Amino acid sequence: MTGELEVFWHPAALEHDTGSGLWEAPPSDILDVQELHPENAERIRNMRSVLLRGPIAERLGWSEGRLAELHELESVHDPEYVRRIHEACKTGGRRFGSTTVLSATSWRPLLAAAGTTLAAADAVLGEDVDVGYALVRPPGHHAGRAVADGYCFFNNVALAAERFRAAGAERVAIVDWDVHHGNGTQACFYERDDVLTISLHMRHGSWGQSHPETGSPAESGSGKGAGHNVNVELRPGSGDGAYSAAFRRVVEPVLERYRPDALICASGQDASGFDANGRMNVSMDGFHAIGRSVRESADRSGARLLLVQEGGYARTYAAYCLHATLEGVLGSGRLLADPIAYMPDDPTHADADIDSVCPEHARWGLR
Ligand SMILES: [Zn+2]
Repeated sequence: MTGELEVFWHPAALEHDTGSGLWEAPPSDILDVQELHPENAERIRNMRSVLLRGPIAERLGWSEGRLAELHELESVHDPEYVRRIHEACKTGGRRFGSTTVLSATSWRPLLAAAGTTLAAADAVLGEDVDVGYALVRPPGHHAGRAVADGYCFFNNVALAAERFRAAGAERVAIVDWDVHHGNGTQACFYERDDVLTISLHMRHGSWGQSHPETGSPAESGSGKGAGHNVNVELRPGSGDGAYSAAFRRVVEPVLERYRPDALICASGQDASGFDANGRMNVSMDGFHAIGRSVRESADRSGARLLLVQEGGYARTYAAYCLHATLEGVLGSGRLLADPIAYMPDDPTHADADIDSVCPEHARWGLR
């Protein structure tokens, strides 16, 4: 482990086969070419290659991930649910809802996503590395204790949070900038104050039985966890200016007051302006600013810093945005040029959205 930022990777990530033709209504033979399932192996192949070949390559180290053990999954997930997921893979796969696809070859990739995240958490905990990045798929932040949802089966960031807590971290914070609400993570820790959850996301509301949470600022935690779930719900079209304002006005002050020992980032790139599954407008500059913000927040509170890959479905641009994020985490300027950002941004776009967060979270001194 030699880099300033250690990337954790396991080749089984490529074996999770989600197929194609998810969006195309029958008769599918009306088209010559179908879209791949958005959550496909090619997206993460590009993320890996841009980190191996981009300008920050020499500042990164690489470590092999591992498969998670069953008892590790059970630190977050219901044992019966884990058994059901395993069984579904052994019997050829199945769908949860219309879009969350398990294939016969998915079990090892699921274990690899969880285990590689835990390997990265352990390295960060052991202070072997300054910052860890778990480059994993499938993503995890929609998965609840016994719920598969939104391409997710096991909640990788929740597993990491439990690992940090078990190792003695008193306060763990999770910041999730995937464009979708981190509902599974919210549900895992909703009544707890030892794991603070912050999600910034497009206003999309709930989407059925597997995702009853709305993602609104009013979902702020309950019981001991009151005030410890922070939702920043941004209107479609929000871009670099809106995200920058949300980090400055909400994420940074909350983290400054909470003072986590460990900061885990659910790092998605589907808020980019070119994503099939999002309607936001963040460019590489915006992701760079996010990376810089979370690094500065972690440094201010002396928190260990771990980033875990979530969504990001533009097969090329998501990889560029990941590179820009890590440029920011490393404290570098912008190194890799943005090949396609030309969309106009309105920096005042989200003021009203952010204003609606503040009354729900007076305890953090938000203005
Ligand atoms: Zn997403």
